[in-house]
Amino acid sequence: MTVSKRLGGKGGLTIPQAVRHAAGLAPGAPIDIEDAGDGILIRKHVPSCIFCGGTTEVVTVAGKEICLACARELAALAAEKLEDFVHDGE
Ligand SMILES: [Zn+2]
Repeated sequence: MTVSKRLGGKGGLTIPQAVRHAAGLAPGAPIDIEDAGDGILIRKHVPSCIFCGGTTEVVTVAGKEICLACARELAALAAEKLEDFVHDGE
Protein backbone atom coordinates (compact mmCIF):
# COMPACT_ATOMS: atom_id res chain seq x y z
CA MET A 1 0.00 0.00 0.00
CA THR A 2 1.45 3.38 -0.99
CA VAL A 3 -0.04 6.65 0.22
CA SER A 4 1.29 10.04 -0.92
CA LYS A 5 1.24 12.85 1.65
CA ARG A 6 2.99 16.13 2.41
CA LEU A 7 4.95 16.78 5.59
CA GLY A 8 3.51 19.33 8.00
CA GLY A 9 5.19 22.68 8.68
CA LYS A 10 7.37 21.21 11.44
CA GLY A 11 8.14 18.03 9.52
CA GLY A 12 5.28 16.14 11.13
CA LEU A 13 3.44 13.30 9.47
CA THR A 14 0.15 11.62 10.25
CA ILE A 15 0.15 8.01 9.21
CA PRO A 16 -3.20 7.20 7.58
CA GLN A 17 -5.51 5.13 9.76
CA ALA A 18 -5.75 2.27 7.23
CA VAL A 19 -1.95 2.00 7.17
CA ARG A 20 -1.74 2.12 10.98
CA HIS A 21 -4.40 -0.55 11.31
CA ALA A 22 -2.70 -2.77 8.74
CA ALA A 23 0.57 -2.41 10.69
CA GLY A 24 -1.10 -2.93 14.06
CA LEU A 25 -0.04 0.49 15.35
CA ALA A 26 -2.38 2.05 17.90
CA PRO A 27 -2.13 5.78 18.69
CA GLY A 28 0.74 6.27 21.14
CA ALA A 29 2.52 3.07 20.06
CA PRO A 30 6.31 3.35 20.16
CA ILE A 31 7.91 3.29 16.71
CA ASP A 32 11.39 3.18 15.26
CA ILE A 33 12.26 5.58 12.43
CA GLU A 34 15.20 4.53 10.33
CA ASP A 35 17.09 6.18 7.48
CA ALA A 36 16.81 3.59 4.73
CA GLY A 37 19.08 5.42 2.27
CA ASP A 38 16.49 6.09 -0.38
CA GLY A 39 13.73 6.79 2.12
CA ILE A 40 12.57 6.41 5.70
CA LEU A 41 11.45 3.18 7.30
CA ILE A 42 8.90 3.33 10.12
CA ARG A 43 8.36 0.16 12.15
CA LYS A 44 6.89 -0.97 15.45
CA HIS A 45 9.49 -0.42 18.15
CA VAL A 46 11.28 -3.62 19.07
CA PRO A 47 12.96 -3.25 22.48
CA SER A 48 16.71 -3.84 22.12
CA CYS A 49 19.57 -3.93 24.60
CA ILE A 50 21.67 -0.74 24.75
CA PHE A 51 24.80 -2.88 25.25
CA CYS A 52 24.58 -5.84 22.86
CA GLY A 53 21.66 -4.87 20.64
CA GLY A 54 19.91 -8.15 21.45
CA THR A 55 16.13 -8.32 21.42
CA THR A 56 15.62 -11.34 23.70
CA GLU A 57 14.46 -10.90 27.32
CA VAL A 58 14.79 -7.11 27.21
CA VAL A 59 13.61 -5.11 30.22
CA THR A 60 13.56 -1.37 30.84
CA VAL A 61 15.64 -0.06 33.74
CA ALA A 62 15.70 3.68 34.48
CA GLY A 63 14.34 4.32 30.99
CA LYS A 64 17.03 2.24 29.28
CA GLU A 65 16.47 -1.12 27.62
CA ILE A 66 18.81 -3.92 28.67
CA CYS A 67 18.72 -7.67 28.09
CA LEU A 68 18.83 -10.02 31.06
CA ALA A 69 22.20 -11.47 29.94
CA CYS A 70 23.85 -8.02 30.06
CA ALA A 71 21.98 -7.19 33.28
CA ARG A 72 23.44 -10.34 34.88
CA GLU A 73 26.92 -9.36 33.64
CA LEU A 74 26.54 -5.87 35.11
CA ALA A 75 25.19 -7.27 38.38
CA ALA A 76 28.20 -9.61 38.67
CA LEU A 77 30.60 -6.73 37.94
CA ALA A 78 28.81 -4.50 40.44
CA ALA A 79 28.97 -7.23 43.11
CA GLU A 80 32.72 -7.68 42.42
CA LYS A 81 33.35 -3.91 42.67
CA LEU A 82 31.27 -3.68 45.83
CA GLU A 83 33.28 -6.56 47.32
CA ASP A 84 36.57 -4.71 46.48
CA PHE A 85 35.16 -1.52 47.96
CA VAL A 86 34.14 -3.24 51.20
CA HIS A 87 37.54 -4.97 51.55
CA ASP A 88 39.48 -1.76 50.78
CA GLY A 89 37.57 -0.05 53.55
CA GLU A 90 38.63 -2.61 56.20
ZN1 LIG B 1 22.46 -7.13 26.10
